[in-house]
Amino acid sequence: MARKILLLRIGVFLAGLFVVCSLLEIYDIWEQSQVYVCRNHLMKLAHAVLLYTADNDGRLPLKESWQTQISANYLQGIKNPQELFHCNYSDKEFSYAFNASVSGAKLSELDENRIILFESDLGTENAYGSEKDESKPRHFGDNYAMSAKTEVVFDHFLKWR
Ligand SMILES: [Zn+2]
Repeated sequence: MARKILLLRIGVFLAGLFVVCSLLEIYDIWEQSQVYVCRNHLMKLAHAVLLYTADNDGRLPLKESWQTQISANYLQGIKNPQELFHCNYSDKEFSYAFNASVSGAKLSELDENRIILFESDLGTENAYGSEKDESKPRHFGDNYAMSAKTEVVFDHFLKWR
């Protein structure tokens, strides 16, 4: 009898352990997918910025209107384009900002590691600013940013000036 109870207890313990492990794994997969969403958004924005520069003598958009410009002309064919401006780890509708120091700059003349778009809590449409306007780290102790090479990487790899 005691043996049966012991086996039952071990069974319940193992089942509980299994549930906890599964939940942790599901959480991990969910977290990974959320991170992927942010990178993916910035990658699509990077592509739109690249198309804009191709049409504008190689120059980046102006800081005051970067979002309006790329929304109006370079996000066609994308479902829910407004969602691209939101990071799931931000409580702001608009989660990214433009590096003011590259406003209207010739893309080809910038160091390829220069930051163009970064994660910010400024939260306004067409937000722009500098290093001090970066949000607290949202992903693994860091933020994503789009570089002048139009790649999306963790911003500690990139330069502000
Ligand atoms: Zn993000």
